[in-house]
Amino acid sequence: MTTNENKFQQIISHAKEYGFVFQSSEIYDGLSAVYDYGPYGSELKKNLRDYWWKSMTQMHENIVGIDAAIFMHPTTWKASGHVDNFSDPMIDNRDSNKRYRVDHLIEGLADKLNDEGKTEEAENLIAEMEQLLGAEDYTGLKDLIISNNIVCSVSGTANWTDIRQFNLMFSTQLGSVTEEADTIYLRPETAQGIFVNFLNVQKTSRMRIPFGIAQIGKAFRNEIVARQFIFRMREFEQMEMQFFVRPGTEGEWYRYWKEARLQWHLSLGISPKKYRYHDHVKLAHYAKEACDIEFEFPMGFKEVEGIHSRSDFDLTQHQLYSKKKMQYFDNDVNPATGKPFGNYIPYVVETSIGLDRMFLLILSESYEEEILTKEDGSTDTRAILHIPAKIAPVKLAILPLVKKDGLPEIARKVMDECKQHFRCFYEEKDAIGKRYRRQDAIGTPFCVTIDHQTKEDDTVTIRYRDSMLQERIPASKVREIVLNNIL
Ligand code: ATP
Repeated sequence: MTTNENKFQQIISHAKEYGFVFQSSEIYDGLSAVYDYGPYGSELKKNLRDYWWKSMTQMHENIVGIDAAIFMHPTTWKASGHVDNFSDPMIDNRDSNKRYRVDHLIEGLADKLNDEGKTEEAENLIAEMEQLLGAEDYTGLKDLIISNNIVCSVSGTANWTDIRQFNLMFSTQLGSVTEEADTIYLRPETAQGIFVNFLNVQKTSRMRIPFGIAQIGKAFRNEIVARQFIFRMREFEQMEMQFFVRPGTEGEWYRYWKEARLQWHLSLGISPKKYRYHDHVKLAHYAKEACDIEFEFPMGFKEVEGIHSRSDFDLTQHQLYSKKKMQYFDNDVNPATGKPFGNYIPYVVETSIGLDRMFLLILSESYEEEILTKEDGSTDTRAILHIPAKIAPVKLAILPLVKKDGLPEIARKVMDECKQHFRCFYEEKDAIGKRYRRQDAIGTPFCVTIDHQTKEDDTVTIRYRDSMLQERIPASKVREIVLNNIL
């Protein structure tokens, strides 16, 4: 196992041990690629969700939010192209009956080549794969697998079937009588809920182009090769924003959002070295430009967010299938003609980020195992999550040194002053060092300890998670210090 794989396994164990992420239905041996968020996980997820929502809606006067249903009229998915095209090329190994996504199989070899320092070979392999995927040349892709001697990890053989397409949408029945029921889909992306509501939102919120619609919600994909913990799930959450622009201006808006979204990631204090753009070579036929924002996870650089310039494809398709006009009337004057721009179907630039993937990014970035040397020379390890204070599940732990002498009463007073403003945690049990460690492990940026001196001079000890520095401050200042660091 490489160091990075080790780190990834440590993060997964830590996430479970400290109540961040559990395997779904674990008592029944779990459901593959489905996960539940525990007490601290659900707080962190909510904080990330709020951070994105605020940056999109509150910070942009021309972006409004919606909350559309998961179920949509089945024609939506016909119009959007998902019924016919939302599929991945798959290949089966005849000896193990194990099914692989073709791109994952080839990327696996590229990762191995990179680990061996053969970066040029890896890059050429990926370039060739992307070119073949773009051309939908499945014979060529199979030849690439065979000629590179890629074998199944279970059987160890290269006894491959032909490559086939596999649709990723989950379907279910609407209505109680099976024979009469309509097949409907669990949405595989949140974007279509925005497209079909485009005019409802534009009219009711009196938006003028350019403007955006943001949405956060669950999406479902029957990922065949679900792996890597919450990186690739069958039920996950997306945070998407569709930005509607005048045709001809999509290039500049694409560049704007590409940069703005990277800045959002960096605003969490993460090093720019951990990020890179991956511009798409293979574009959907309607797409004008597309890129991924990739982050260096323990398993290498992987997509966390996509920025796509989607032309007027989706709205045009919905106009075609619904026979309802999807046009916008632009009464701004066109300098070239001296007349209003008039009616048109807007172009769309979309930003689409996976909330769960962002959660994994934060865990990967903040997890550290520190080796501490004690006074007697022995060593101890401290597992710590350096989660940015503004999204940390708990902001402040309030810890009376002992359970008596009136200290809990003073601590409760501090708790009452703070708990309306941010999430606090109160604990009396165990030695103080042990309590600090538990807070480090869940990423609490501040701890305050109430001791006997507090009774004399009304001061408390504040301890900072990352530096482990401790200082004496007036108890009345605790709330302000924490608030200054989390806004
Ligand atoms: P991938 O290539 O990894 O399958 P994608 O290009 O299909 O992703 P998009 O359709 O662009 O992904 O979705 C936007 C975002 O939604 C992705 O950047 C990712 O963060 C998230 N996402 C997509 N599929 C999953 C999944 N199965 N589990 C968790 N998050 C996902």
